[in-house]
Amino acid sequence: MIERSRSGARAIEYRRERLTGLACTISPTRLSRGLNHPPVPTPVPAPGDCPFCPGQVERETPTFPDGSRIRRGESVTFPNLYPFAPCHTVTVITRAHALDRFEPRQLADALQGAAESIAAAPGYASINWNYLHSSGASLDHPHLQGVVMDRPSFVHGRHLAGSSRYLTRAGRLYREALIEHERSSDRFLFGDEVPFVASAVPIGEREVRALLPAGSLEGAVPYFECLATGLCRVLDLYRDLGSHAFNVACFFGREGRDRGFSAFCSVISRINPNRDSISDSAFMERLHLQPIVMTLPEELGRYGRDAF
Ligand SMILES: [Zn+2]
Repeated sequence: MIERSRSGARAIEYRRERLTGLACTISPTRLSRGLNHPPVPTPVPAPGDCPFCPGQVERETPTFPDGSRIRRGESVTFPNLYPFAPCHTVTVITRAHALDRFEPRQLADALQGAAESIAAAPGYASINWNYLHSSGASLDHPHLQGVVMDRPSFVHGRHLAGSSRYLTRAGRLYREALIEHERSSDRFLFGDEVPFVASAVPIGEREVRALLPAGSLEGAVPYFECLATGLCRVLDLYRDLGSHAFNVACFFGREGRDRGFSAFCSVISRINPNRDSISDSAFMERLHLQPIVMTLPEELGRYGRDAF
C-alpha cells in the first residue's frame, strides 16, 4: 500500500502512497520546537459584525434562485458570495458564533444541508471545512463549504485515477483492500461501517481518514450521521492534544461514473491561531507539495485507541 524509507539517525521517514503517488516526510524531532501554543481566543463579535450570526445571516447572505436558504437543524446553507467553482455553497453549522466542542447532531445536519445544496450540480463534489483563522478560515463562525468542480482537484483526481486502475488490476475496490490491511495495523482508530484510520501517508498533521462505504455523494449521505459522530471524536482527540484548528475535506465520486472510487473524508489538525501569525504551511507544503509532518500515524493510532 505504501513505500517507506528512513534516513539519518533522527528517524526521518519518507513515505509514498502507491495508489496516488502522494508523498510526505515525517520528522518527529520537529515536535520539540513546541510551536503549538494555546490558541488566541476567538474574539466575541460586536452585534451585527458577524454575517453568520443569527439575525445577520438572513440579511447578509445570498439566497438560492428560488429565494430560499436550506435549513437543517441549526445549520443554514446558501450560495457562496465569492465562489471559486461553478457550484460553491456555504453552510453555517451552528447558531453559536464560537463553541468548545461540536455535537454529532450539529455536524450531521450541516453535512446534510451542504450535500443538498450541491447534489444537483454535475461534476466533482466535495464538502470542506476550515476551522479558525490559522487553518485558512476567513470568518470565525464555523461553516462548511460545498464545492462542485468541472475537473477534480489534484488530490481528488489522484484518488479517482488510482482507484479505477486498482479495480481493473486487482478486481476489487481499493477501499476493501485498505480496510483489510489497516484494521490490524497500529493506525486503525475505530469504526465498522465507516472505519476511521490514521492515514499511513499523512499529507497534513495527524491526518485521519474516514472511509465511506459508497462512491457518490448521493450514496454517502445515509452514512453522514456515522461520519459526524466519528469526526467529533477525532476533533475531540485533537482538542485533547492541544490542537484547536483543523481542515476537513470529504471527496465524492460522480454517481454511476467513477468506477472503483470510494468516498472518503480527510481531517488534519493545524497550528493554533497565534499572535505571531506563525504558519504550519511553508515551502515544502506549498511549493514542493511534499508535506513535512511531525506525528507518526502509528503513534496517533495507538494514542487515539487508548483515548477512545
Ligand atoms: Zn457569528
